[in-house]
Amino acid sequence: MRAPKTQRRIAISNPTGVTGGSLLAPLRRGDRRALAQAVTLMESSRPEHREAAERLIEEVLPYTGGSVRIGISGPPGAGKSTFIERFGLEGIALGRRIAVLAVDPASKRGGGAILADKTRMAELSRAPSAFIRPSSAGDSRGGVARRTRETILLCEAAGFDAVLVETVGVGQAETAVAEMVDMFVLILPPAGGDELQGIKRGVIELADLVLVNKTDGELASAAHRSVADYASALGLIRPPLPEWQVPVRAISALEGAGIREVWDDVGRFRTTLEASGAWLRRRSEQARAALWAEIGDSLLNQFRAASAVAQRLAAAEDALRAGSGWAAR
Ligand code: GDP
Repeated sequence: MRAPKTQRRIAISNPTGVTGGSLLAPLRRGDRRALAQAVTLMESSRPEHREAAERLIEEVLPYTGGSVRIGISGPPGAGKSTFIERFGLEGIALGRRIAVLAVDPASKRGGGAILADKTRMAELSRAPSAFIRPSSAGDSRGGVARRTRETILLCEAAGFDAVLVETVGVGQAETAVAEMVDMFVLILPPAGGDELQGIKRGVIELADLVLVNKTDGELASAAHRSVADYASALGLIRPPLPEWQVPVRAISALEGAGIREVWDDVGRFRTTLEASGAWLRRRSEQARAALWAEIGDSLLNQFRAASAVAQRLAAAEDALRAGSGWAAR
């Protein structure tokens, strides 16, 4: 049986020495320092911190779900951070509070990433209504995904009403992010036909909105051609949501052209999906998938950690390598 709530709170501590329970009040006030501490707690893998993190998530849950969760992806150099800075500042001008999280399951980047991301979005990171948090060095794909999901909830409890989740890198990260957001935005550079072929069909299929960036100067006409190419490529794919025709928009993150329209798309997307019921359906499917991923992860960890299993597993693997084991037959 669990200890009474007050007792549990006293027993909880996090890496910063603040009790998990006491983080709730400053979080609810929108205190960004408390939010940063709470995220650090989520990222810790020490068992006592994990326990405190789970308690905190339980406490914040009633205050979550209110934001629009937007995934932002695209190949390196497409202009993701330039876009996020513009889009974020525009959102703040519209009265929103913006949280930016970066997901990079493959990376082993350490503290340097924090500096790099802050310089990448210099103006946004100084805005009082923004919170920017890059992922810390990830241990596993599942771990990073779980922490990002939890961090989204913390941001919502702290009153951030738009959470932007950027994927740094390509491949599996896109799918992981698409599975935790409401709307998946793909940012692409102006491209010729060959490059268009190179963009994975699977990634295009995930998009709820496609932005062709760098529609300015010498690149403007190439960008407009790309918009037409991507639109016709999308026309060949069955849309993920029948009620939503995926827009392909020409923007210039550098000059700020088309950015306000992206906020309009976000609003329209939400209204449309809320009306059809798809908004809540997506979220509950995601929550269900996250639950099963969590169950799978923890079962696998317990299985591996059991000493009897560890010994037999090593023996089975040796036998496999020698080609003589049961599993090789
Ligand atoms: P990321 O790797 O996707 O985050 O891309 P960045 O935002 O770091 O941008 C990569 C490069 O493209 C930088 O040199 C930017 O200045 C440039 N860039 C970004 N957006 C635009 C744009 O709208 N127009 C032009 N011409 N360059 C851009």
